[in-house]
Order: sequence, then structure tokens, then C-alpha cells
Amino acid sequence: MPHREGIKTIHHWIGGKARLPHSGGRHADVFNPTTGEVSAHVPLASAAEVDTAVAAALAALPAWAATPPLRRARVMFKFRDLLEKHADDLSRIISLEHGKVQSDAAGEFTRGVENVEFACSAPSLLKGEFSENIGTAIDSFSLRQPLGVVAGITPFNFPAMVPLWMFPLALVCGNTFVLKPSERDPSAAVMLAELLKQAGLPDGVFNVIHGDKEAVDAILVHPDVKAVSFVGSTPVARYIQATGIAHGKRVQALGGAKNHMVVMPDAELGMATDALMGAAYGSAGERCMAISVAVAIGDEVADALVERLAPRVRALKISSSLDASAEMGPLVTAQHRDKVSAYIDIGLDEGAELVVDGRAVRPHGYEHGFFLGGSLFDRVTPAMRIYREEIFGPVLCVVRVPDFRAAVALINAHEYGNGTAIFTRDGDIARTFVSEIEVGMVGVNVPIPVPMAFHSFGGWKASLFGDHAIYGPEGVRFYTRLKTVTQRWPTSIRKGAEFVMPTMK
Ligand code: NAD
Repeated sequence: MPHREGIKTIHHWIGGKARLPHSGGRHADVFNPTTGEVSAHVPLASAAEVDTAVAAALAALPAWAATPPLRRARVMFKFRDLLEKHADDLSRIISLEHGKVQSDAAGEFTRGVENVEFACSAPSLLKGEFSENIGTAIDSFSLRQPLGVVAGITPFNFPAMVPLWMFPLALVCGNTFVLKPSERDPSAAVMLAELLKQAGLPDGVFNVIHGDKEAVDAILVHPDVKAVSFVGSTPVARYIQATGIAHGKRVQALGGAKNHMVVMPDAELGMATDALMGAAYGSAGERCMAISVAVAIGDEVADALVERLAPRVRALKISSSLDASAEMGPLVTAQHRDKVSAYIDIGLDEGAELVVDGRAVRPHGYEHGFFLGGSLFDRVTPAMRIYREEIFGPVLCVVRVPDFRAAVALINAHEYGNGTAIFTRDGDIARTFVSEIEVGMVGVNVPIPVPMAFHSFGGWKASLFGDHAIYGPEGVRFYTRLKTVTQRWPTSIRKGAEFVMPTMK
């Protein structure tokens, strides 16, 4: 990609400083999706540049790992205050590069900050366990220690929140961090790094390296990187897990999704319709917890739902991501817009009924932006690609099933298992759904059941590879190693050498 004059280059952040990329290196364009214009160039790091970032993190590790958790947490308290102070700037950066509307960017910001607040309780989170007198005059205790240098590789759809799922907790646990944010909206990560420095984080403890597959591969094989947290699409998540594990790393790799919302005949239809509108079309459907399938129980429910949804999908207010009245902004890139649009063609070919067609929607004044209107398919069947594959855009598919049992079987047969929801007034049905559904995050009359920062986030099946969900208590386990100590001190009790397995018999 040739450099264009007058376009700013986004910096890496290494060793507490902004670093220009090596000269002659590759770069990619960053767009303003509302206008379609190139807003910046992002460097695509080479393995040598990744090595510089890992070296900075490794150099900072001994002092940071030895810093008492209370002091590490104090950095997070300051970081939280700085984030609040710069909330509007950060939300604006997110909107400008991602394309989500400002109110949605503000929501992302808030959900991200909650992870910083959780990380502030590090001293409690890292408390170990102690057993006195496990044998005569012998005590045992367990502690959790940092892993070392850990890395985060993040997707475009939450440029601030997903990194915040990772590094606040990794840092307070005593690790140092290398973040490789999405190359499509990389500026938020750099702002987070600057604010961490202002909060008093020592240089090198947090680093940002921009790049694509080349940088990711360099992280995955780097001997000094001990763990990798990844969030992104399922094919890449699978690859990250396999490659990371092959190189001796601890890996958590969160992948894609196809989230179903079941609407029972007793559901409050107005509430269910509102929920579907927000969950399917908010953030232009570019959320891993977006609802992309409405499962209607019976034709009567399906007809009523489609009748309510269709006019509202047609009336979605689509405009610039900075327009305060907009409900939906553009998609992230022209390429992604075209991919989503192609899925609508596929759905038509497959015989689904296109009730609302968003393909030609272009808001006035933004003809070069990456816009797409909301689309609604009815009579989608499980064999269709638009049902099986993640579209990741403002496209909702209605699948008609005869009864509750068929809905559960449908969802459980799907490759993905990130989130799901049921709308009903029946407690027995809801309880059975919660118990039997093979999905990691479940909502009852709640369409987007993203766990709070003091719980943990994680899907099942092809939506998560690895043993740990992300953030919350699971995050503490992921970013620490358990050590268990058995100790006794010289006393008058001496039994001499023992050659049998120690027991208390
Ligand atoms: P993506 O998989 O294309 O990219 C994610 C990261 O991986 C980026 O940093 C990218 O640079 C890197 N990458 C891309 N291709 C790679 C390759 N071949 N080898 C190595 N690294 C590579 O994902 P995206 O398009 O940025 O984000 C959208 C996807 O993320 C959707 O599938 C969505 O469901 C998923 N997502 C999942 C969650 C979750 O919690 N499960 C949350 C957010 C997004």
C-alpha cells in the first residue's frame, strides 16, 4: 500500500513511548466508515518490531511482578479516573474509526471501564488459601503468581472494550502486556496506552504493536510470550489456539457467534420486538452477542413478530456515526459491507423470504460511506448458509419452529454457542431452557446477556477455544499460575526419613 501525503501514521507504543514504524515497512489504510475516506495509516509490524515490544515487556517484568498488588491496583484507580475524564474523546475515536454511533460507543466505553473497576480489587482477588496443621506442625498455602509477558489480540468491533477485558486484569495480576489491536480501528488502543502512562504505569509494562497476521504469528511463536488472549472470528481463533499451544503458551481464544432469541407464544411481543430491534441492528449487527436469529414458536407468533418488526426495520435511522440521533451507523469497511450484502443475495438464492431489503440504503450526503440498511429474512431454514454462518451485519433471520423442544434442538445443533435468549412469561419453560441449552451466556427476557465485569464472559462450542472464559474471576485464573506450598519448621517432632507417600493416617 503506497503512503499518501498528508495522512497521519498511527504509532506503536513501546517502552512507554510512541514509536514510529521501521522505515520501509508495510502499512494499511484506516477509514472513516461514514465518509469512506482514509483517515490514517496503520503500520503492520514485522517480527523484528514485535520482538522490540516483547523485549520492552520482558525488561519491565521483574520490577512490576514484584510490585505489591495494592500498588498495582492504585495505578488502575488513577487509570479509571483518567478514562472517565476522557470518555468523550475515546468514544469519538471509536465512532470515527469503527462507525458505531456515539451512544453505542459510550456504552462500549462504560462496559470497558467496569473491567478496570474490577481490576482495582486485585489485592482481594489474589488472596490465596491457607490450611493450618495439615499434618502435625505442617501448614499448607496456595498463591497465584503472574505468568510473565502476556499478549492480547483483539477484533475490530470493540476497539476499547475488548482490550479492556484483558489488560487491566493481566496487569494487576503482575504480568506485563503486549496488545495487538485490530488494524481496522487501532487508535483507541494507543489512547489507552497514553492514559496508562499518565496513571503512573511504569514504562514497558503495557505495549501496543500494530499489525496483521505477520505480527500475530510473531507473537504466537515468541518464546518470551507466556500466554495469549484472543478475541475474533472462529477460523482465526482455532488457528491461534492450535499455534499458541504448539508453542507452549496458555491460550484463551474467543470466536464468532450466531445468537438465537426464542420468542414463546406467551412472550410480551412488544418487549420482544424492542429487544430484537436493539440486539439485531444495534452497532449494525457487528457484535458477537448480537441476535441474528429470531426463533418464533408457531406461525402465529412468527407472523405477528414479522409484522411488528418490518416497519421498524424500514424506519431505522441510519446516518453518520457522529449524528446524535442515528440508531445505526455504517459498517466498518467497504469490504465487510460487501460481504454482508452478498449474504443477502445468498439468502434470496436459497429461497428465504426477504421482507426488508437494506442493500440499497445510502443516507443522503454519505454516498461514499460503508452503509447498509437493516434487512429482515423470514422463513429461514437450518440448511441455509444465512442461518449456519456468521454474517456480522444488520441482518435478522426469522426461523419458524413448531414448539419449544424444536427450538432447543435447533440451537443445540448449531456450531456456535456464544449467547442466546428466551422471551416468555413461563418460569418453568425459562428454567428448562437455562438448564438444557448448550450455550455459554443465556438471557431470560434479556436479549444481550453480556456478563458484568465481576462475572466472566465466554461462549461454548466454536465460540471459545481454551479452558478459561475471559475477564472476571476466570480472568484472574487465566493470568496467574497456582503454586501450593507445604511447609514445616524445625521442631522437636522428628520422625526420621519416611519412604512411603505422605498421609495423615
Ligand atoms: P478477525 O478474526 O478477522 O481479527 C481478529 C484479530 O486477529 C485482529 O487483530 C486481526 O489482525 C487478527 N487476524 C486476522 N486474521 C488473522 C490471521 N489469518 N492470522 C492471524 N491473525 C489474524 O475478527 P474481526 O473481523 O476483527 O472481528 C469480528 C469477529 O470477532 C466476529 O467473528 C465476532 O463474532 C468475533 N468476536 C467475538 C467475540 C467474543 O467474545 N466471542 C467478541 C467480539 C468479536
